[in-house]
Amino acid sequence: MTEKAATLRAHLDVFIDDTLSRCTRCGKCFEACPMTRYSDGLTGADPKNVVSGVLDWLKQTPGNAESVAWLKVCTQSSRCVEACPEGINAMKMIRVGQMSAMGSLGLSGKPALSGRDAKDFFRVINAFSETQMTPEEIERWQR
Ligand code: SF4
Repeated sequence: MTEKAATLRAHLDVFIDDTLSRCTRCGKCFEACPMTRYSDGLTGADPKNVVSGVLDWLKQTPGNAESVAWLKVCTQSSRCVEACPEGINAMKMIRVGQMSAMGSLGLSGKPALSGRDAKDFFRVINAFSETQMTPEEIERWQR
């Protein structure tokens, strides 16, 4: 993915469009996640269904309950990134899904997630905001 986005929102929109166009919903990122076993909401979940729910959040549509459970349990192990055969940054996909589920991308209604559910997400934002890195440098760090 190559881009020169002027704003964080433009950067996210490019990432969302790219992910939605390339993700095959194979579920390998979910299968590689070491945290799913720790969520009761993911017992017996169909990986393809969970990923489809996350992609719904990227589309600004409420995803299914399993997708919310996965968004909540992410600890940024990055195993999903290594597992994706399409080269999609699935960990970033989860982060953007978290933003959407919190209502931070403009989705109206009661948020499915709160900041308390995604503490690491805000820790990363704070860390990057303090570094004053360019968008290109941040993108490289997020890979
Ligand atoms: S592994 Fe990659 S292509 Fe497969 S569902 Fe996850 S993000 Fe999509």
